[in-house]
This record gives sequence, structure tokens and C-alpha cells, in this order.
Amino acid sequence: MFLKGKTAIVTGSTSGIGLAYAKALAAEGASVVINGFGDADAIEKERAALEATSGAKALYDAADMTKPDQIAAMVQRAHDELGGPDIVINNAGIQHVSKIEDFPIDKWDAVIAINLTSAFHVIRAAVPFMKEKKWGRIISTASAHSKVASPNKAAYVAAKHGIAGLTKTVALETATYGITANAISPGYVWTPLVEAQIPDTMSTRGLTREQVINDVLLEAQPTKEFVTAEQVAAFALFLCRDEAAQITGANLSIDGGWTA
Ligand code: NAD
Repeated sequence: MFLKGKTAIVTGSTSGIGLAYAKALAAEGASVVINGFGDADAIEKERAALEATSGAKALYDAADMTKPDQIAAMVQRAHDELGGPDIVINNAGIQHVSKIEDFPIDKWDAVIAINLTSAFHVIRAAVPFMKEKKWGRIISTASAHSKVASPNKAAYVAAKHGIAGLTKTVALETATYGITANAISPGYVWTPLVEAQIPDTMSTRGLTREQVINDVLLEAQPTKEFVTAEQVAAFALFLCRDEAAQITGANLSIDGGWTA
């Protein structure tokens, strides 16, 4: 329970990798603010389970990551109600698959807002509290797509490269305050986000579902296995340890060798 007394915000933690982060943080005793969309009863069940695991408070905040005022209010709430935030994990994300010439402008705007600009707003609001405490951990879920591209994912690839740049800049600005800022770049993890992109990849590339899974997703990863959400969460947990205090400004891969 090395995170007892610490408070973490995890954006987009109602499913997938975000939920795994929240569970891992709670298992180490952290108070957690969960966020994202989904069925209200299921979210309340997860929230209560986090409290039972951590023995500390867990809150659900419905802030929409496209709304800067709601993001700032969520960070302020983590301060007022839980004394944080000590740790922020920028994780909310969506994907859109489309050829560049057909890429809908509203989809470009939404992908950039949720995957990139929301991280800017979370960090902007959280850093003053972290500087006051002289301790903080800023972690952002980037992607292998922050290092290499795939066709038909212009907005997602641009947003994830942006996360890597934002992370480096924030690391330089906070380095003398006991704060680290890092990006974690997973390869493919089987989550609702990946499953949802399969039909569009089938139509843009003229492939079957099996071909998309085996020849596009798993083909990218030399291990030929999906990364698991729990593996990504364990990686984030390590970055919260004192032993990781000198890791900052990094964009760390957990991708089965994809970007090698
Ligand atoms: P997911 O769909 O399971 O989770 C996405 C989360 O974001 C959900 O909780 C959803 O409610 C939330 N969200 C979406 N729009 C939101 C908004 N406007 N406001 C607040 N919350 C919102 O997907 P995931 O695969 O777990 O993705 C989590 C992160 O990991 C994303 O940033 C994604 O780009 C990244 N990532 C995923 C993979 C993968 O293969 N699954 C690989 C690399 C990076």
C-alpha cells in the first residue's frame, strides 16, 4: 500500500486500460477519482469496489473531456474533497478510422480534444497543487501511434504524437518540484476502443474481421500477443514509486516490440 494518503485522477476509467489503472492505484491504497461514460449502475459498482480495495475514498466525476470548465472543476474537486491530486493519469481516448480525404472534420476535432487537449487541461489545473506539495506524478496514455503511424488514423496519430511533446515540455517545467511527467505507449490492448475500430478497418482496407485481428493488429506486434490492460497499469504503478523519481520526460513503450 505505497500510495496510502495519495489521491489519483484517472480520466476515461470506466472501462479498458483506465479501469485497470484505477484498480491498480486503489490496490496500493490511493484515493481515486474515476471518470468517463457508461452505465450508471456499473460505474457505481466499480467506484464502491475501489473504496473496498483501497480503504480510501473513491469518487466518480462525469467531466466531459471536451469541456475545459468541467475538467478544471474535476481537478478542483479532487483537491477540495480528497486533498489531491498527487497523481493524474490522462487516459480518456477515442479513435476514428477514415481515409484522409474523407476524414470528417468533427471527428478530427473530437479525437484531438479528447486524446490531447484534455491532457493539457488536466495538467494545467493539477500542476499548481503538485508544486505546492513538491511531489507529483503525471502519466499520459499515448500509444505506439505516438512513435509510428498507421494509415487512416490521422487524428489519433497526431494526438498521440502531441501527447509525447506535451509530456516532454511539462517534464522540463516541473523537474525541480519532485514532479515527473511521462507517457506510456501501449501496443494493441483488447478493449472496447480496439473492437470498435475493426468494422472501419475492414471497410477501409477490404479485409475480414479475422484478417484485421491477425494481419493488422497482431501482425504489428512481434510477440503476436495483445498487451493486457493489467500490464499497462503495472507499468504506471512503477512510475509512481520513489524509485522512478528520475524517469521524467520519457515516452515508454509497452508494445510487444512493435516500435522496435
Ligand atoms: P476504452 O474505450 O475502453 O476507454 C476509453 C475511456 O475514455 C472510457 O472510459 C470512455 O468513457 C472515456 N471517454 C471517451 N470519451 C470521453 C469524454 N469525452 N470524456 C470523458 N471520458 C471519455 O479504450 P482503451 O483502449 O482502454 O483506451 C484508453 C486509452 O488508451 C486511450 O487514450 C487510448 O488511445 C489508449 N490506447 C489504447 C490502446 C489499445 O490498444 N486499446 C493502445 C494504445 C493506447
